[in-house]
Amino acid sequence: MVHFYTMQETMKILKKHKIRITPQRVEVYELLLKGGNHMTAEQIYEKIKKKLPAVSLATIYTTLELLQKKNLIKEIRITFDKSCFEAHTEPHHHFLCKKCSAIYNIDIRPCPALEKRQVDSHSIEEFHGYFYGICEKCRIGYKDG
Ligand SMILES: [Zn+2]
Ligand SMILES: [Zn+2]
Repeated sequence: MVHFYTMQETMKILKKHKIRITPQRVEVYELLLKGGNHMTAEQIYEKIKKKLPAVSLATIYTTLELLQKKNLIKEIRITFDKSCFEAHTEPHHHFLCKKCSAIYNIDIRPCPALEKRQVDSHSIEEFHGYFYGICEKCRIGYKDG
């Protein structure tokens, strides 16, 4: 059920959110849309540089900041030291494998507090569930490559 976004679609979404079109913005957003799941700014930079050699890491950071402000992407801080970004903005939780560092999307029914969007009379706007452990692949001794 993966939807492949064309560059036209990517540009349409950016325009809809009143983001001025630049090649960097289109490339970064498209990369994240295409399932470049949970990528760090550095990983995004490495990919974009291949297509747009003149791009700088600083530009990647400002682009990510802009896309985040427009709610087109989300920042995940599951590893604390490094932020990851993804275009999958539906609420979901994350699992980090302590062995292979892979990050997985986790779908868990929201708890009653989250469904009411309230806790102790405070209103909840966002919730990030981070789970840590050993992923299935590592658990069954799956060897990569
Ligand atoms: Zn693992
Ligand atoms: Zn995710």
